[in-house]
Amino acid sequence: KPVVAIVGRPNVGKSTIFNRIVGERISIVEDIPGVTRDRIYSSAEWLTHDFNIIDTGGIDIGDEPFLEQIRLQAEIAIDEADVIIFLVNGREGVTAADEEVAKILYKAKKPVVLGVNKIDNPEMRDLIYDFYALGFGEPFPISGSHGLGLGDLLDEAAKHFPKHGQGEYGEEVIKFSLIGRPNVGKSSLVNAILGEERVIVSNIAGTTRDAIDSQLKVDGQEYVIIDTAGMRKKGKVYETTEKYSVLRALRAIERSDVVLVVIDGEEGIIEQDKRIAGYAHEAGRAVVIVVNKWDAVEKDEKTMKAFEQNIRDHFQFLDYAPIVFLSAKTKKRIHTLIPMINTASENHALRVETSVLNDVIMDAVAMNPTPTDKGRRLRIYYTTQVAVKPPTFVVFVNDPELLHFSYERFLENRIRDAFGFEGTPIKIFARER
Ligand code: GDP
Repeated sequence: KPVVAIVGRPNVGKSTIFNRIVGERISIVEDIPGVTRDRIYSSAEWLTHDFNIIDTGGIDIGDEPFLEQIRLQAEIAIDEADVIIFLVNGREGVTAADEEVAKILYKAKKPVVLGVNKIDNPEMRDLIYDFYALGFGEPFPISGSHGLGLGDLLDEAAKHFPKHGQGEYGEEVIKFSLIGRPNVGKSSLVNAILGEERVIVSNIAGTTRDAIDSQLKVDGQEYVIIDTAGMRKKGKVYETTEKYSVLRALRAIERSDVVLVVIDGEEGIIEQDKRIAGYAHEAGRAVVIVVNKWDAVEKDEKTMKAFEQNIRDHFQFLDYAPIVFLSAKTKKRIHTLIPMINTASENHALRVETSVLNDVIMDAVAMNPTPTDKGRRLRIYYTTQVAVKPPTFVVFVNDPELLHFSYERFLENRIRDAFGFEGTPIKIFARER
């Protein structure tokens, strides 16, 4: 998906525009702690265009002075986006800070669309002319608070989107990424995987944008490790900020089929791990939980079980994800990763037979009668799988409101008992017949 970034000095209305463009999508997320908080990255749609959008204003970079912050945010936009929306405040004219942003953007070889915000009515339109001086061509008048002019702005941005599918990988390639907080051993794990005997590393090359992916082949199957560069330390100031690393992780998740959520076995689970795992789940990707540095853990025969239980308690929403305890350092169990990725990927793309699916649902209903609410009983007529990656089911019922969370969960468990689906989330929707 193309990535659009919004840049501009503070108070020009970046977050308002971001929220307008994202629309109600922001509320369709599950209640996983931290996932919805301070969102700076989201998917969005405009007509036939499907893209991701970043509000760089949401990434604050430590104690850097004001102008330096703006400069770094512009650099993030240049690094991360295909198209940049440069936002200014129409009511204040061109300011010195706008000119600073412009100077940085000139140097980038990325298309820039200039949005002049706070033009709330047609009489104010003349205010846009000053902004031709910034040198980015036609300024687009918009109003974040009234939702005006966004269509024209996005049309212009969409003209610069990369052609569909450009630079991406074929369906047959399994794409995976490693996510986790700094120092859990992601880079070490990538090296350990690439260093395995059966692994043929075809090349390590820049592909889409600035992401560096690693391509490999094991037993004839091709894989890509998404955004290996994001795991290496590159030393830019903003790379150490949490928001930026989250942004990077979200973008890697977006491009992956399977996400390896890496936890430091020595340090155990902390809140940040939970948040990171939440993103992978929310995005509907297949997930494998990897506990690294197991060599450094003092253990007896009960340690692994206890750690596993701890993970299950903390990551209840990831109950489908297999867990592996390994060491990038000693290479212990590194060889089990590829088979686990294969299984998760297969299940993520699994399509089940409709007749068998309906038998499973019928048996489930016979075993545990459907719930009633205000004297009305839920009736399930028919179930069908409408999508893969992740497997998505639609249950046709008399009234969708009657399919409560607990019964939906029960149906999910019956589907899992029947078909497996280890490693992948599955989604169930109720529709009125
Ligand atoms: P990243 O920030 O997640 O990419 O983490 P790195 O791969 O840079 O590793 C962080 C630190 O943990 C380094 O000092 C590694 O040597 C160390 N490390 C990584 N994997 C292991 C492991 O399996 N066992 C032990 N004992 N140390 C590890």
